[in-house]
Amino acid sequence: MKARIVTLPGDGVGPEVTAAAVAVLQAVATHYEHAFSFDEHLAGGAAIDATGEPLTAATLTACQAADAVLLGAVGGPKWSDPNAKVRPEQGLLALRAGLGVYANLRPLTVHPALAALSPLKDEKLKDVDVLFVRELTGGAYFGAKTKGADYATDECKYTEAEIERVTRRAFELARGRRRHVTSVDKANVLETSRLWRRTVTRVAADYPDVTLEHQLVDSMAMLLLTRPGSYDVVVTENLFGDILTDEAAALAGSLGLLPSASIGEGRTGLYEPIHGSAPDIAGKGIANPIGTILSAALLLRHSLQLEAEAQAVEAAVDHVLQHGPRSRDIGGSASTAEVRDAVLAALEEHA
Ligand code: ATP
Ligand code: MG
Repeated sequence: MKARIVTLPGDGVGPEVTAAAVAVLQAVATHYEHAFSFDEHLAGGAAIDATGEPLTAATLTACQAADAVLLGAVGGPKWSDPNAKVRPEQGLLALRAGLGVYANLRPLTVHPALAALSPLKDEKLKDVDVLFVRELTGGAYFGAKTKGADYATDECKYTEAEIERVTRRAFELARGRRRHVTSVDKANVLETSRLWRRTVTRVAADYPDVTLEHQLVDSMAMLLLTRPGSYDVVVTENLFGDILTDEAAALAGSLGLLPSASIGEGRTGLYEPIHGSAPDIAGKGIANPIGTILSAALLLRHSLQLEAEAQAVEAAVDHVLQHGPRSRDIGGSASTAEVRDAVLAALEEHA
């Protein structure tokens, strides 16, 4: 098949990890006889330096016309003055809104070979296989903001339609997994959460084959640590999802390993590792590219519907995590390029 992929390498280690993932996608294209084209654009701080804006209209248009967007990371100390007029992160919010990607998917598994890196004990880690579905374009991050001399407000608003569409995504994804959805809210306190719970409960009636459970966000924060193996799909609103998915990332051992996908009604999905631009190691060639390579696997699965190819990439990564080489963040000493080459070799051998 033909596919157009826009790459936004961004800042810090972004360009290093994006290049490694593109090499993997190119290998997939060759092996499975697909024609993928790659179109690179500036985003974040790199775009501010070149154009004054973190995401130009031309870049957004190119992203909207693509089948998928692969993003490295944006931001860094150079652009982090809180009083700056433009910030790299604004480009990311504009990109998510412009693509209409309202569901952020973050799979969490813990590779057995990396169990020692996790703060959880072995018996808790067994069977951890969770897919977080975080609402990405509503809630407090997008509501009206006000500030006075001695007060500030962030409006948290959700409509039924916004809740319903992300809930349907979660239930559909659960059908391809273990058919269990946990919806997380704060319905004992927040009006938006009561609407959330009512809407999720109504939508669940259309999926009688999937079990629904509700949890309050404060107890969920604890349950993720005490019984992470009991969850399949977890769906929640923007702010709660941001916090819970960072907690989940800590369970996996390293930020460098985890991928994410952001999808909406349109065909263009946005794929990026969950880590940031890691300015402390940028330019050294030592960043772990696995989170971005696994994001490329999600791109193959969710935007291009290439399930076998996605699984081949995931199997190649599994092989490398098992046998090495490993980058520094997961206890090895390999460079970004060495990890990339090992994934390419495993892909060649097993695909
Ligand atoms: P952001 O605000 O953009 O989310 P952050 O403050 O969460 O960023 P990161 O940039 O993700 O932070 O980095 C946090 C720590 O994890 C840093 O020490 C960084 O070097 C390390 N780290 C992040 N990504 C990787 C990676 N791919 N490989 C190795 N180490 C990484
Ligand atoms: Mg962060």
